[in-house]
Amino acid sequence: MRIGGLQKLSLIDFPGLVSAVVFVQGCNFRCVYCHNRELVYPHLFREPIPEDVILSFLDGRKEVLDGVVVTGGEPLLQPDIERFLREVRRMGYRIKLDTNGSRPERLEALIGSGLVDYVAMDYKAPLRRYPDVTAAATDAAPVAVSAQMIADSGIHYEMRTTVFSGLKESDILETAAELVSMGVESYYLQVFRPFSGCGVDLAPEYPVVEALHEYLLSSGCFRQVCGIRNSAPGTVTRRFSAAVTG
Ligand code: SF4
Repeated sequence: MRIGGLQKLSLIDFPGLVSAVVFVQGCNFRCVYCHNRELVYPHLFREPIPEDVILSFLDGRKEVLDGVVVTGGEPLLQPDIERFLREVRRMGYRIKLDTNGSRPERLEALIGSGLVDYVAMDYKAPLRRYPDVTAAATDAAPVAVSAQMIADSGIHYEMRTTVFSGLKESDILETAAELVSMGVESYYLQVFRPFSGCGVDLAPEYPVVEALHEYLLSSGCFRQVCGIRNSAPGTVTRRFSAAVTG
């Protein structure tokens, strides 16, 4: 595993659990709003943290932590992720995986192996808009396959869309409609928060996002959760934190 960072303690990344967050290097998308560029663009990569350092840290925190979140970058691009998750599981941790959904065959294998307890998948836009939003020659079909698989899997999950100025209200509603048609029941709108160096004004208008959320909530189309994150100025957006090896 190419590991670019470790957040030693998080109360927000794994719903209901105290967790550590492992950040992997490498992603096949280039989303314009990405907060974790140090994990996406190879020329920004730092020296990877040795895997045994991470595993040793986790082994020593079993009394404090309940879960481990693996995020990135895109974790499913890591060829040895299954082996890594087995090591983490062997320590007794619950595991959450964050993914962009572009590798359904690998996701299916991990879910089938019983190594994943919770999946958070980005469903970034209506499928027809994936090439714009991801700035990659993206075939969105695998994303739809992943979303459907997760919805049908029976494991805990959430789908989430980062709302930024490049998505219109109609795009969000179209996104939601695609998810509802797949039977997705848990959905979050994440409001883009500007960060240093993002260059253009990507922030959406808060009232519009809140109105969208209210609309989706009142429609009842997502039966478990229809949530909103970062809805007011001053709330905290999780950011990639620099490598911690001690
Ligand atoms: S998929 Fe995630 S990590 Fe990859 S570029 Fe997009 S926002 Fe960044």
